[in-house]
Amino acid sequence: MTTIALCPSCDGYGWLEDDEAGAAEECGWCAGAGYVYRDERGVDRAIPTADYAAVAPELERLETERLRDMGYTGSAIKPWEQQVRGENMARMKRDNGQSG
Ligand SMILES: [Zn+2]
Repeated sequence: MTTIALCPSCDGYGWLEDDEAGAAEECGWCAGAGYVYRDERGVDRAIPTADYAAVAPELERLETERLRDMGYTGSAIKPWEQQVRGENMARMKRDNGQSG
C-alpha cells in the first residue's frame, strides 16, 4: 500500500532555499511537488509527473490542509496543478462551501 506523504526534505514547499545564493531551488526529493509516495516500508520516492493527473485531487486536499494549518490563505501553483490544468480541470472540482 502506497500512500502520499509530505515531502520530508522540503516539508511540502516543493522548493528549498539556498542560503548562499539567497534563492529558492526546486526540491530534488519530490521534484517540486511537495509530496512523495511512501510505501509500506516507509520508503519515499518522487511522484512521477505522469501520475499527477491521477493523484491531483489527493494532493489538492493535502495541500489545502497544510495551508490551513499554517493559517495561509494564498496559494502557490504546484506542479501537478500546472500539469492537469486544462484538459482535466473538470475533474478538479473545488468545494469551498463550508467554513469552520
Ligand atoms: Zn520536497
